[in-house]
Amino acid sequence: MDIDHSLFISDLHLCHTRPLITRQFVAFLQTTAAQADALYILGDLFEYWAGDDDLADAHHQLVITALNALVASGTQVFFMHGNRDFLLSDGFAKAAGIQLLADPTRLSLYGKSVLLSHGDSLCTDDASYQVFRQQVRNSAWQAAFLSQPLSTRKQQIEALRQRSEQEKSGKAETIMDVNAAAVEALLRTHHYPELFIHGHTHRPALHSLALDGHICQRWVLADWYAQGSCLRLDAAGCCAIQLALNAVN
Ligand code: MN
Repeated sequence: MDIDHSLFISDLHLCHTRPLITRQFVAFLQTTAAQADALYILGDLFEYWAGDDDLADAHHQLVITALNALVASGTQVFFMHGNRDFLLSDGFAKAAGIQLLADPTRLSLYGKSVLLSHGDSLCTDDASYQVFRQQVRNSAWQAAFLSQPLSTRKQQIEALRQRSEQEKSGKAETIMDVNAAAVEALLRTHHYPELFIHGHTHRPALHSLALDGHICQRWVLADWYAQGSCLRLDAAGCCAIQLALNAVN
């Protein structure tokens, strides 16, 4: 029996056009994640989410079924919104048996104070993205968007994705990383957690910060574009784990 531990993942960007990554995710849920007390999905599980009325989609059903089986086997699953799947709501959570978490969330795990976030709110150098983020996280905007037919929403999201890809290629690398002062402000607000875990930037790393006499480890999760990975936390601390691709063949 493995010792008590939790796992953290983000930025899988699951999409029906990349079936191998979805298969790896399902295999991960059936094996690695099933050994954990809890799995924390810190945003961008899906490449996009048009609304909870899209649950019947075959690709979504694969994920929902696998999450349900994991929860039924005794692993709790928590989900925090990313910038791609912020419209995911109670309908998906209920269908998959998972629990939604606010961004950020501070908790205590295995005797350690831990702060969790997706990470996009910290990219404050990207001013145009922050304006967009404020708009789409507004409940009135979301209600108006969701009142349109599902097919219309999907078309609009596709157009947005293409525009965002074009804009990204014109932005400096540093603009799309987290802003150091924004990270420090968040850590102060949340009383200097020992661990801060987030994704979004697709720049996996461990950054050790000394802030106002406190030490904080900032762990940045890896994306699942080429292969799966997760961060494991137990009483001894965190370690990053690469998932073998051959596990899905
Ligand atoms: Mn993201």
